[in-house]
Amino acid sequence: MSKILVKKYGGTSVGSIERIESLADRLVRDIARGEKPIVVASAMSGETNKLIALAEKIDPDYRGPAYDMLIASGEQVSISLLAIALEKRGVKTQPLLAYQLGILTDSTHAKARIKDINGSKLIELVNKNIVPIVAGFQGVDEDDNITTLGRGGSDTTAVALAAAIKADECEIFTDVPAVFTADPRLVPKAREVSKFSYDEMMEMAALGSKVLHIRCVEIGAKYGVKIHLRSTFEEREGTWILPEGEVMEQAVVSSVTHDANTAVFKLFPVPPGPGFLAELFKTLAAKGVIVDIITQSESDEPSTKGQQRLAFSVTKEDVPLTRQVLKDLAKNVDVNLIENMAKISVVGVGMRNHPGVAARFFATLATQNVPIHIVTTSEIKISAVISQADLQKAATSLHTEFSLDKID
Ligand code: ADP
Ligand code: ASP
Ligand code: MG
Repeated sequence: MSKILVKKYGGTSVGSIERIESLADRLVRDIARGEKPIVVASAMSGETNKLIALAEKIDPDYRGPAYDMLIASGEQVSISLLAIALEKRGVKTQPLLAYQLGILTDSTHAKARIKDINGSKLIELVNKNIVPIVAGFQGVDEDDNITTLGRGGSDTTAVALAAAIKADECEIFTDVPAVFTADPRLVPKAREVSKFSYDEMMEMAALGSKVLHIRCVEIGAKYGVKIHLRSTFEEREGTWILPEGEVMEQAVVSSVTHDANTAVFKLFPVPPGPGFLAELFKTLAAKGVIVDIITQSESDEPSTKGQQRLAFSVTKEDVPLTRQVLKDLAKNVDVNLIENMAKISVVGVGMRNHPGVAARFFATLATQNVPIHIVTTSEIKISAVISQADLQKAATSLHTEFSLDKID
């Protein structure tokens, strides 16, 4: 029996007409081998950024239906071009926007979550030998507004479609051949890893590694869809994201992950009483902003003694939404935004049973003279916010400390 496979292609994979044509050639080869693809594509690389820049010229803080409508449009272009390239090669296709397929989401603009997908239309098309080519990243809410799933969200479209048609795997094609022990662009000695558990990958995604969108890993774990991340440019296996039991190796630290675009908000003085913090973090959560690290401390200056300072970090993408919320809630409070920060983390399920990782983490950063601004830990990770200028040396030295460097 031929195999129905959801295949997702990222921005670089459809980044130019030449790339689209060679992707069409590869799909023709896949079909000749008996595969029945359901294709999901992102916008051509750079396009979503261009669209965002246009909106931000008018209003940097606007997030609402018109924003999503605008930034979802890049995918309409790429799927149409890919369909034309396949049709030229004699393959029947149907390009599909999210609303045509009923990818229903909630109404959290720029951060929507998929609520439901009807997979039967896709199966019908495949059974008629028509290749569905679905726009990644977008959805539609109950009021027929176009929504988007957050940056990098095409991965989530793909895994959600795979779950909807009850496929047990989903292929994510990208510009690196595998998931590495660190971003290979930052840490040249990073090694390819053949298997990661859903938990580790989720933690890496949450900590800023953009190789996979966090929601796609969550959906994969929930519906049992194995995710195979692999190269668009090479025909070989990449990395499998699997349940923990299927990943034999349990490294104490399996990756060093970074988010080069971390921003820290500092508030002073925090309005007294617990009400303000509760309201602030509730409102941010409702807008889909993930507040990462939070610290609160008492002022030590004599003139303001007893007053509270608050610092918290968010990823750069969430700065506009956070600013919007603070404008409404933090009246009479000094709000400072520090943008040139980065977050560096070590992740590993093996940390659960190995004490001492934190000590090695801090000792390494101290030896490298990297000042730490804020810190957080969980069962399987340790993160610190540092200055962007220190990122490379922090990442490479932690990578070496935890024995992750590839051996030449
Ligand atoms: P796409 O457009 O295909 O979705 P992305 O740019 O979103 O591609 O994700 C792929 C990029 O993720 C790589 O080019 C790489 O720089 C980055 N990356 C970050 N962390 C890792 C990691 N641990 N392993 C591999 N790539 C990583
Ligand atoms: N085009 C969208 C973005 O740039 C979605 C994606 O690439 O997955 O964020
Ligand atoms: Mg991506």
